[in-house]
Amino acid sequence: MNTPKNQASQPPNGTPDAGTPAKAVDWSNFRDHISTADRTGKRQWIYPRKVTGRFFRWRTWFSWLLLAIMFAGPFITINGNPLLMMNIVERKFVVLGQIFWPQDMIIFAVAVLLCLVSVVVFTTAFGRLWCGWACPQTVMMEMVFRKIEYAIEGDAASQRELNKAPWTTLKVVKKALKHGIFFGLSFVVGNVLLSYIIGWRDLYQIIIDPPAKHLVGLAFMTGFSLLFYGIFARFREQACTFVCPYGRLQSLLIDDNTIIVAYDHKRGENRGPIHRSEKFSSRRQTGLGDCIACNRCVTVCPTGIDIRNGVQMECVQCTACIDACDHVMDKVGAPRGLIRYASVNGIEKGQHLRFTPRLAAYTVVLLALATVLGLMLFMRSDVEATVLRAPGSLFQQMPDGHFSNLYTVRLVNKTSREMPVELRLESPAGTLAIMGQTAVAVPAQKLLENSVLIELEPSAMKSGTTPVLIGVYSNGKKLETLKTAFIGPRN
Ligand code: SF4
Ligand code: SF4
Repeated sequence: MNTPKNQASQPPNGTPDAGTPAKAVDWSNFRDHISTADRTGKRQWIYPRKVTGRFFRWRTWFSWLLLAIMFAGPFITINGNPLLMMNIVERKFVVLGQIFWPQDMIIFAVAVLLCLVSVVVFTTAFGRLWCGWACPQTVMMEMVFRKIEYAIEGDAASQRELNKAPWTTLKVVKKALKHGIFFGLSFVVGNVLLSYIIGWRDLYQIIIDPPAKHLVGLAFMTGFSLLFYGIFARFREQACTFVCPYGRLQSLLIDDNTIIVAYDHKRGENRGPIHRSEKFSSRRQTGLGDCIACNRCVTVCPTGIDIRNGVQMECVQCTACIDACDHVMDKVGAPRGLIRYASVNGIEKGQHLRFTPRLAAYTVVLLALATVLGLMLFMRSDVEATVLRAPGSLFQQMPDGHFSNLYTVRLVNKTSREMPVELRLESPAGTLAIMGQTAVAVPAQKLLENSVLIELEPSAMKSGTTPVLIGVYSNGKKLETLKTAFIGPRN
């Protein structure tokens, strides 16, 4: 049997031979290396220039709104419940004031699936719009921490100079002030996140109680503060490039019809500088396009990339390059939009956003999931009840000849108010009592476990096992029907 030479040199499992030298990096190809590392692999610090423009203005307003929601969120209540709380410790989750318990896991799973499919649909249509406009990382980094940095250390050139300069008193003061504010803000952000997990009341208790009472809570407060300080002071754009899975998913989700921040290469190329004496309108005759190779779009980019190279994983679609380029176009008297929101097909073929079959298929799945979730939420009862036969118990015969079985009933009150709950034996005829009563009050957001005794006449029983239906009522309204079995003697 003939084996091709190149196959014979491969190990049997198909992995490259350990002795094969790694492929050399092609430094002229931007896809072969990242912009934030030099040839030795050392981090290249990004100094993005300050940006102004209409998109930056709109993003600033939108960020204020998002920040207001984020910081006020833990204090906003709906029907006495927080707007959002993810209490992993107590396995209690609150979304828009609705409490979800571990018993609601299926609803939770469908909701997570719905969110994932929404992300897929949204990204397929609009790319990483989320990253640029609403992601907490971008909002905090670009709209809060970066602005503080500009205020203390100045624009990109001043920051670069300051970092190269020897340690003078002024430099120490500036650095100490910046990092002090950064840490203080990170502490606040960390506490806000913690209050979304345990609720602001528990967080307040940790703050006012003696430290020894809440060592775990304090450890989380410190951990979150250090984590956010590390992200916003040092890690920065690396979080989007290396850690965030959404950026990596982008290449799977977007296609030529996706709206992205894109450079119009048809209009821009060939790029070349413009001279003071040169008229912009006469560039075309010299074979030049609208891009004057000023590099403004590169210098404002917080991830250090050149948008003119095309779609790149590092691009968080922050629109800074759109504003920078629009400013340049205004100056040279050319129409805005050399860099703009557009699809690849929009730029190359002049097409508008299309509802492609792929998008249609995702949308159908999205609607189906939304319908299922809607129905589940509509049918979800305020009280969840389960009934189980008491472990190890058999039937008993009473002095009047009736037979009895003992059960354990678990009632979970999912609301934030006390719920009166009544259990009625619906079939067959007989009696049911919860520890001698017919109704109990289940405290708000609590689980109540109680013993239930069911008595049946021999005439109502089948030989061996009799199916039993128990109605669960609250304020006269039937919530659900429980099925169980009544054990009796065999005929
Ligand atoms: S800002 Fe505009 S004109 Fe300047 S280099 Fe970038 S794309 Fe070209
Ligand atoms: S390429 Fe433009 S949109 Fe993308 S991250 Fe850089 S500045 Fe933002």
